Amino acid sequence: MGEFDLIAQYFQRDYAPGDNVVKGIGDDCALLAPRAGMQLAISSDMLVEGRHFVSTVSPDALGHKALAVNLSDLAACGAKPVAFTLALALPRVDTTWLHGFSKGLFALADQHGCALVGGDTTQGPLNICITVIGEVPPGQALLRSGAQPGDDIYVSGSVGDARLALEAFRGTVQLDAAMFASARARMERPTPRVALGQALRGIATSAIDVSDGLLGDLGHILKASRCGAEVAIDNVAALAIFHWAGHGFSSDFCREMTANGGDDYELVFTAPPSAREAVAQAAGRAVTPAKRIGRITADTQLVLRDAQGALVPNTFASFDHFKS
Ligand code: ADP
Ligand code: MG
Repeated sequence: MGEFDLIAQYFQRDYAPGDNVVKGIGDDCALLAPRAGMQLAISSDMLVEGRHFVSTVSPDALGHKALAVNLSDLAACGAKPVAFTLALALPRVDTTWLHGFSKGLFALADQHGCALVGGDTTQGPLNICITVIGEVPPGQALLRSGAQPGDDIYVSGSVGDARLALEAFRGTVQLDAAMFASARARMERPTPRVALGQALRGIATSAIDVSDGLLGDLGHILKASRCGAEVAIDNVAALAIFHWAGHGFSSDFCREMTANGGDDYELVFTAPPSAREAVAQAAGRAVTPAKRIGRITADTQLVLRDAQGALVPNTFASFDHFKS
């Protein structure tokens, strides 16, 4: 199968009138008709075999995750997904793989009304790069830079689950079958918090999505907003959706998974205490849990406390691809 047959068979589909696609796959550029007055939000994320996923992951899950991590960036900006492009390097034409990958990809794309409008396909080590395009009303994008001293800090869903699965794959922890399945689903099929991001427009003062670890990503908000934070770290572990934190792991282990886990694709955001009711309503509209985990302070320290309020030493460093 040649490059163009491959594109036609697995990636080219009809567009719906609501897609705002003037010209999709098949010409030198895609043409989109943005809604009048909207700003465009654009973000790229690349997944590299051996770095971001293992070769044994199912192609369907990989298709899902490649788009999910990109939609998560739109969510963190409060943007509505519009379209995306897909740049794909494939070692060989494997039709079973392509079928599974495109199925997982389009299932998530269709959930969010996000049309695939172009890309590039080449032979090479497996590498998937997606660029997403979203729209947001002028001035309403959620940025990292708006947190104010006194603001509450929230996290959606739960963090640490994906890292728990990674540790199970590495063999450093033993999980029972049900817990392993839950953790693995969180790692392989993350849920981008797209509805919550849009519901928080005009309410949250800052936001980021958690890809590299809760504290590291919160640190980006603190740096951009020039402030500090206090986080009730043990209360965050207790939020875990399938309650792994209650299964007899040491508190140090739970703190490490929670503070430093990565691959969560939850939203961390800030809002003033006067907006607590508005945040609760936004979370309700988005059908996404969001819990208070701390507050923004005027100094530039990141202070951790346990459930009783005692200081926990902050020894957690977040993931950085260029640090060993
Ligand atoms: P060009 O040589 O002009 O860059 P290509 O021959 O690479 O165009 O691609 C032909 C068409 O197919 C273009 O519209 C391009 O955007 C699209 N395309 C290529 N690869 C992909 C892919 N993996 N997914 C979606 N569209 C793709
Ligand atoms: Mg090309």
